[in-house]
Amino acid sequence: MTMKALDSLNKHIRENKTDLRRLSDAIWTHPELAYEEKFAVSQATEYLRKAGFSPVIPYCGLETSFKAESGSGKPTFAIFAEYDALPDVGHGCGHNLICTAAVAAFCAVAAELKNKNLPGKIVLLGSPAEESGGGKVKMIEAGCLEGIDAAMMVHPSWRATPDTGSSAITRYDVVFHGKASHAAGAPELGINALSAVNLLFAGVNAYREQIPEDARMHGIITCGGEAPNITPAKASCRFFLRSTGEDWIKKIEKRFLDIVHGAELMTGATAEIIPFNVPYMSREPNAALNRTYLEGISALGMKYILPAHGGRGSSDFGNVSHAVPGIHPYFPVTDHEIPGHSEAFRIASGTDFAFDNALTAAAAMANTALTYLTDPAFKAEVDAGFKA
Ligand SMILES: [Zn+2]
Ligand SMILES: [Zn+2]
Repeated sequence: MTMKALDSLNKHIRENKTDLRRLSDAIWTHPELAYEEKFAVSQATEYLRKAGFSPVIPYCGLETSFKAESGSGKPTFAIFAEYDALPDVGHGCGHNLICTAAVAAFCAVAAELKNKNLPGKIVLLGSPAEESGGGKVKMIEAGCLEGIDAAMMVHPSWRATPDTGSSAITRYDVVFHGKASHAAGAPELGINALSAVNLLFAGVNAYREQIPEDARMHGIITCGGEAPNITPAKASCRFFLRSTGEDWIKKIEKRFLDIVHGAELMTGATAEIIPFNVPYMSREPNAALNRTYLEGISALGMKYILPAHGGRGSSDFGNVSHAVPGIHPYFPVTDHEIPGHSEAFRIASGTDFAFDNALTAAAAMANTALTYLTDPAFKAEVDAGFKA
């Protein structure tokens, strides 16, 4: 794909700047949690209708999922939009910008395919509940990737980077059941469920020494008993287990469950193990898609860096990247490091700087999609990388 196409896509996006800003601000000022994103979806689909598309909503049996498509013939490239927010910090992950960039890129590619009479299909998939709920996992199970050849999305960060992968994650709630008793008067009649929780943490901390550098195990106590003078009959915790390796996540999960069992044996409490949310797979970025995205942002004046190691967070786009070639690269919302999922990140996601960079990322994403659709040699390279 020549840079001429990039310029044309970027021009299309910049021409719609005012309406795109309105879309981004509307979502940013109206944060909605997983599977409750009705307002965000109404804003995005209204934008698409005004632009001449006919979005399908609900999609995949999910009320806050949607699909729009344009073009005909093969191949088909999908762009994912996200729009869910976080408890307390609202759009502290900047998903308002993800949705805006996705809509912008979709419309630009659709216009380019139509104006130049090019074969190929561009699809926009509105995916709810990335932060908790695994919207994409449910959409894939419902068949959203059938007929899709490759996919991508862009995500805000404090810097521009390629997709460097992410961790697989599996999450558990563990509830220990013991026996209440007077903690001073008759402690011998009790079974302390909180002790089981404490021993689970101790076991996990000991195991930490034997896991790879890229693995993570982090937990919180969600219930620690009622009062110090009552032996806790019930205590619970929630753990997130992560690894960038699909093999290691299985090992860590098995050991974690063994440690839970060990805590049962050591205390006499019994454990109730409840999976929390659906597991997400690790993200396996496609090198050729990454390269083309970086060429695009560079040509538009955005500087990127190559991080020293891969991403350690987790995303349901991981499951997408195991099903089709895909990437999930980043664009900056600030010019200095700030933590994700924070008030600072929420504020940054509403600035002119962030919005402008989201449009640059959208143009580079549109260019990556269009290159895949129209350049058979590039498509062959992307597909070969995925199979390898
Ligand atoms: Zn997030
Ligand atoms: Zn996010």
